[in-house]
Amino acid sequence: MSNKTLSVASLGFPRIGRHRELKFALEGFWSGKVAEADLLETARKLRAENWALQRDSGITKIPSNDFSLYDHVLDTAVMVGAIPPAYGWAGGDVSLATYFAMARGSERDGHADCGHAHHGHGVPALEMTKWFDTNYHYMVPEVSEDQAFALTSQKPVDHFLEAKALGIHTRPVVLGPVTFLKLAKARPSTFKPLDLLAKLLPVYEELFRRLRAAGADWVQVDEPILALDLTEGERHAFKLAYEAFAKAAPGLNIMLATYFGAAGDNLDAAAAVPVAGLHVDLVRAPDQLDAILKVARADQVLSLGVIDGRNIWRADLAAILERLAPVVAARGADKFEVAASCSLLHVPIDLALETGLDADLKTWLSFATQKLGELATLGQGLAQGRDAVWEAINDAAQAVAARASSPKVTDPLVQGRIAGIDAAMTHRKSPFEHRRALQAKALDLPLFPTTTIGSFPQTSEVRKARSAHAKGALSYKDYETFLQKETAAAIRWQEEIGLDVLVHGEFERNDMVQYFGEQLAGFAFTQHAWVQSYGSRYVRPPIIFGDVSRPNPMTVRWWQYAQSLTEKPVKGMLTGPVTILNWSFVRDDIPRSATCRQIALAIRDEVADLEAAGAKMIQIDEAALREGLPLRHRDWQHYLDWAVESFRLCSSGVADETQIHTHMCYSEFNDIISAIAAMDADVISIETSRSKMELLDAFRNFQYPNEIGPGVYDIHSPRVPDIGEMTDLLSLARQRLADRQLWINPDCGLKTRKWEEVRPALVNMVAAAAQLRHAA
Ligand code: GLN
Ligand code: ZN
Repeated sequence: MSNKTLSVASLGFPRIGRHRELKFALEGFWSGKVAEADLLETARKLRAENWALQRDSGITKIPSNDFSLYDHVLDTAVMVGAIPPAYGWAGGDVSLATYFAMARGSERDGHADCGHAHHGHGVPALEMTKWFDTNYHYMVPEVSEDQAFALTSQKPVDHFLEAKALGIHTRPVVLGPVTFLKLAKARPSTFKPLDLLAKLLPVYEELFRRLRAAGADWVQVDEPILALDLTEGERHAFKLAYEAFAKAAPGLNIMLATYFGAAGDNLDAAAAVPVAGLHVDLVRAPDQLDAILKVARADQVLSLGVIDGRNIWRADLAAILERLAPVVAARGADKFEVAASCSLLHVPIDLALETGLDADLKTWLSFATQKLGELATLGQGLAQGRDAVWEAINDAAQAVAARASSPKVTDPLVQGRIAGIDAAMTHRKSPFEHRRALQAKALDLPLFPTTTIGSFPQTSEVRKARSAHAKGALSYKDYETFLQKETAAAIRWQEEIGLDVLVHGEFERNDMVQYFGEQLAGFAFTQHAWVQSYGSRYVRPPIIFGDVSRPNPMTVRWWQYAQSLTEKPVKGMLTGPVTILNWSFVRDDIPRSATCRQIALAIRDEVADLEAAGAKMIQIDEAALREGLPLRHRDWQHYLDWAVESFRLCSSGVADETQIHTHMCYSEFNDIISAIAAMDADVISIETSRSKMELLDAFRNFQYPNEIGPGVYDIHSPRVPDIGEMTDLLSLARQRLADRQLWINPDCGLKTRKWEEVRPALVNMVAAAAQLRHAA
């Protein structure tokens, strides 16, 4: 086979290492067990491996500077000198200590899986938030109005040279200046970070000159905000920036990369800037190809993102070739690159490591390493004709066909139940007012009832027992006995301190999604398919490959056991369909909404069984409901419609007397309050302590009728709140809501806390409730 190929680009490769080498090196370094030199050596090895792998796989535009010790947005902030004064940086090289202080704070703190920042003592870390609609989190840069920028690090140049010394010519990747400023936070919030663009550009110009001098001919500049709703001013910023770059480093070709969605109404702005190449995401937005061909200049290289950088399915290479071949023939092969839709950061590294997956399923999957092969095949197929890559295409076609017709994917029973969903199934029998009266009678709770969100501390004993059981060192029976003991102790203690509504504590759960996925049909789990969530935290998302159903009850036994120990009501505790969906790799052969509805039916079955077993209250957590909002505002309503419908489908099968709770982690509610109300949960608990109850304004303004538990203590901090603090917060809540609506609970689950912190905090919380009742 000849080597003739189109240019082939991955846009970025996972940094964490096939065996999570980076995590272990980082955590070793932080705990003082690994020397700085050894950490840096591990990092260097990972880069060398990734470059060699990509070269050997046939990638021709090999990325460099896609590597980061913690986060590429943080790297960019450090590179341009956007280091808030609190970190004590005095100019010059930025030390690892400063870098990690920005990432993690100067004194560590625990963390819950709610996807946002957690401040400890000492200098707090920068805030952390989700990278667009992925489950990766970046550190939010902070800039001041008089911010000075300077090129403080040569990392992109250093890594380019490091690869060059290995004989590998790379295309450095940098985060573009417009996206960088758009993601940054103004401190204080009296100006727009984008106003600083003119001051920032010289730093990028200097970087580009140095890259050019080092021998780079191309640089990939990522501007993913081109997939967001932008203002005219923001669009204009692209013109300013890229015209300046064209002047400053004329010999350096820029591949301007958009991804995560259609450029849409930003396309003209993207096409108008003087760059040599434009990358577009044709997985998320396949229809934009025609529009892009129209606006691209004749001399511009178009990078076609056709291999999914966000999901794990093997591509239908024949179909892609068929679509692209005429386009490439018409415009000329040297005017195109074939690429992943976005950086491969968001997919696991290598399918070959998985030995426990179903053999059929395994042939349907493609992780980052396999995607490199797919890309190379496409590059050759487009340059030489499909016959040249016949074998690879044929293999892929067979796998795609086998998946499409597999009985493992389609379950006629599920399809039948989905077809039978009617309006009655998504509505409670009576409106809330009526249910409220019945529930008050059935439950007989005091004013301001107290409860918790579900989990109690996952102590090291709990985690040890779980891993011993997983390894076979602890028998099923002994593990079960251990969990019962933990549960019983938690129930006894909750009774003792006088909580009104108890929880079983979730000791048996490894993770709020995985625990359910492992018991649902249509889900698969991997052994090594880690994906970076943030820093050294990686997750192994479940893979939803087929129609979802629930063969057996999942939580009923634990609820029954807990309820058998007490007269007080114990809440059933479930994860909701939207959250399970948003934290998994999902099917690409049916819409997300269809999978969500299937999960909802499965959860509905569980709700029915809990109710039949006697549960009077059932909480269905939707921590990730807001996270799932689409990037473009005009797509929100559609998402909210099906997400809310799924929640209602899983929660509406119960009697009026049965109280449905839901919980959401830190969220803005203003712009989605009508959807929250449409969920029609009898009680919603939310995270509010850090917002001083201001999040309740949305509920007040909407005249939200159902009951609410606004969190009264910040579970992200080890600090124990005193009674007064909580009564203060509660009086703020009472200014906004009627007493009869209010519940009293912490912000979120307590699994990341220690018992020494939880005990006094909850005792104080119960005392705060008593004071309030007394005064009311
Ligand atoms: N019930 C879960 C818990 O308490 C909810 C966690 C969450 O929403 N993140 O852990
Ligand atoms: Zn939460």
